[in-house]
Amino acid sequence: MSADVDVVVAGGGPAGLLLASELRLGGAEPVVLERLPAPTGLSKALVLVGRVVQALDYRGLLERLGAGSVPAAAYSRFAHLGGIPLDVSRLIESAPPGYFPAPVPARQARVEAVLEARARELGADVRRGHELAGLSQDQDAVTVEVRGPQGTYRLRARYLVGCDGAHSLVRKQVGIGFPGTAPTQLHWLGEVTLAEADLGRLPQRIERTATGLFTTVPLGGGVHRIVVSEWTQPPEHADRDIPPTIEELRAAVRRVTGIDLAMRQPRWLSRFTDAARQADRYRAGRVLVAGDAAHIQLPAGGPGMSTALQDVLNLGWKLAAQVKGWAPPGLLDSYHAERHPAGQRMLSFVRAQGVLLSPGEHVTALRELMSELLTHEQTLRYVVDRLLGLDVRYAMGGAGPAHPLVGGWAPDLPLRAPGGHTRLATLMRGARPVLLDLTADSRLRAAAVGWTDRVQTTVARSDEPLEGILVRPDGYVAWVAAPGDHNTVRLRHALQQWFGVAG
Ligand SMILES: Cc1cc2nc3c(=O)[nH]c(=O)nc-3n(C[C@H](O)[C@H](O)[C@H](O)COP(=O)(O)OP(=O)(O)OC[C@H]3O[C@@H](n4cnc5c(N)ncnc54)[C@H](O)[C@@H]3O)c2cc1C
Repeated sequence: MSADVDVVVAGGGPAGLLLASELRLGGAEPVVLERLPAPTGLSKALVLVGRVVQALDYRGLLERLGAGSVPAAAYSRFAHLGGIPLDVSRLIESAPPGYFPAPVPARQARVEAVLEARARELGADVRRGHELAGLSQDQDAVTVEVRGPQGTYRLRARYLVGCDGAHSLVRKQVGIGFPGTAPTQLHWLGEVTLAEADLGRLPQRIERTATGLFTTVPLGGGVHRIVVSEWTQPPEHADRDIPPTIEELRAAVRRVTGIDLAMRQPRWLSRFTDAARQADRYRAGRVLVAGDAAHIQLPAGGPGMSTALQDVLNLGWKLAAQVKGWAPPGLLDSYHAERHPAGQRMLSFVRAQGVLLSPGEHVTALRELMSELLTHEQTLRYVVDRLLGLDVRYAMGGAGPAHPLVGGWAPDLPLRAPGGHTRLATLMRGARPVLLDLTADSRLRAAAVGWTDRVQTTVARSDEPLEGILVRPDGYVAWVAAPGDHNTVRLRHALQQWFGVAG
């Protein structure tokens, strides 16, 4: 039996909604199933930081967020490694322009609204109030059972992607393992109105006490986000489905800080832990997982949504290529090969931060050592690169030594093209691979002529010492020609490796 749709995306959170747009840009037909009939309006993440900011810019989504950006140096106000402040502004002076993306104050609810509008505008079928209830796969397709407002129905799709969050039914039903570390910390979260008199005694940054942690973030309109963390083993109330009460939150604040904080009008009460787990494979046949369905972690440094969005930017064009029939062998499997190690590295970094945040004299000694190390610019740069996900590289060079840019993020090159000034970010908006010919001789274009149906070729001038660069749709560099490099064999190899045989 043939499939009804190309791809079913389970879950209309940030990962599922961005994936739907990427699939549409790649020419595939996705259906997004989201069990919530309407958005909750609540935001776990409050700000976008790091590589994901540049990645969203490469799709023209930053301007849609309308959040404006703040200077990159402002990141120093809240950047920390497990509560140890990081002076990012010190690094910015010595870094190339644009190296550090400016933080974007965008709440998750706003990000989701923009992503949903974009997915619908591109023609994605987003079905709210439709819950994925079960699935099975055979050689040709995946059959999903959906509970919708009008009853239960079935859909057959060529592929299914589980973007259905931490408790992913998709992951469980296809038997993808979720190994990792069990919780050691319990974090209480409340968005509440505080008494005027208490505002003066709130700490400005994370406060580490003898028994836990306390953080507040003003959200405007007199509302504050309070996060209070306790180290208990095993954590009590680890069941996140039972919301805490405001009295429990108040008591936790009292236990950790000794302060009795009057709070009222809770608009959100929740709890989370530091459990850190990762799917042992991101693909099982015709089923893939991305975002929180593939990894969960403490939100230290805000890696969750950023990693989720970068997962689907890596996956979207590959899955669309698979569906459209031009994917070279192994392209879809490169999603696991590239994003699983990136997720593993992020989890390891978050676990380290979890330790630095914990109470106790031994940890205090470790923090002192780390603080001293962070006075060295090289160490600071290393840590900030990891925190912002600027260190992610993929193995792409092929045989022999490759240009240092290959496998890394493509910098947003200012370009002089026949039509006027432009930049790489503008060329990336359609999620197509981009071959920049910076020599204005026809050699590179001649070598790539068999791929013009898939690869966008642009002739331009740049001040960088480069003759050509091939950028994948996810913004990573697949090939570079340095000055004097007239060998197009590597270019043809990269084109074939990522975009299939010449047409
Ligand atoms: C307190 C807190 C603060 C955070 N702060 C940050 C931060 O500052 N920066 C950051 O980057 N990240 C942060 N995160 C993490 C971030 O919120 C998550 O990583 C992000 O939401 C992951 O997106 P997702 O789309 O993968 O999953 P989710 O956002 O969980 O979306 C999954 C969606 O799937 C739907 N769904 C589930 N099951 C089904 C089903 N069977 N059928 C249909 N639909 C289904 C759900 O309703 C949901 O809409 C924070 C998290 C917490 C808890």
